[in-house]
Amino acid sequence: MSERFDAAVIGAGMAGLAAAKLLARAGKTTILLEASARSGGRVVTLKSDTGTAIELGPEFVHGKAEPIFSLAREAGVELVSIADRHFQKSGGRFAELKHAWQPPGGIGAAQALSAPFWGMLFIAGEATDHEYPGTVAGALASGARAARQALQALQG
Ligand SMILES: Cc1cc2nc3c(=O)[nH]c(=O)nc-3n(C[C@H](O)[C@H](O)[C@H](O)COP(=O)(O)OP(=O)(O)OC[C@H]3O[C@@H](n4cnc5c(N)ncnc54)[C@H](O)[C@@H]3O)c2cc1C
Repeated sequence: MSERFDAAVIGAGMAGLAAAKLLARAGKTTILLEASARSGGRVVTLKSDTGTAIELGPEFVHGKAEPIFSLAREAGVELVSIADRHFQKSGGRFAELKHAWQPPGGIGAAQALSAPFWGMLFIAGEATDHEYPGTVAGALASGARAARQALQALQG
């Protein structure tokens, strides 16, 4: 049996899930293909015997990340502010860092990585977002951007 879809999204991490959601909401038949046995990508939540959630991946919202805030509003999830300091161990000593993580890539990397192919292949993923690289917010924003590009291509 063969089936046709308007769009195929490869990878069910946060970027792929965001892209698939927007494409489906726009009325496009969409298939989401994931290589592993579960969705979520680097978002991995274990449940302890007592039901407590243990996050093996992301658990913090870094900065004023609107893509996360809007998802939290949509899901009715409350975000709690916490004070934070970040340290890196190097040569047996801890040094305080200004940021929680080092954004990947060099200047222009996100733009280069997000360039579409043949007007029909649109690249998402946190490393392709220049505003919130390395974060769930960046993954969500990149998925939304790739979905908008795909919708534009489907119209044209
Ligand atoms: C330990 C840890 C802690 C983190 N903490 C935070 C945090 O506190 N806050 C924060 O904002 N971010 C945090 N991050 C970063 C955040 O998890 C990532 O930026 C975000 O989840 C990346 O999402 P993505 O969709 O871009 O990629 P991924 O999550 O990597 O998703 C890619 C998906 O594509 C699938 N895939 C790959 N190749 C193929 C293929 N050929 N065919 C089909 N499927 C394929 C993979 O299996 C995967 O499911 C953390 C990451 C880690 C590892």
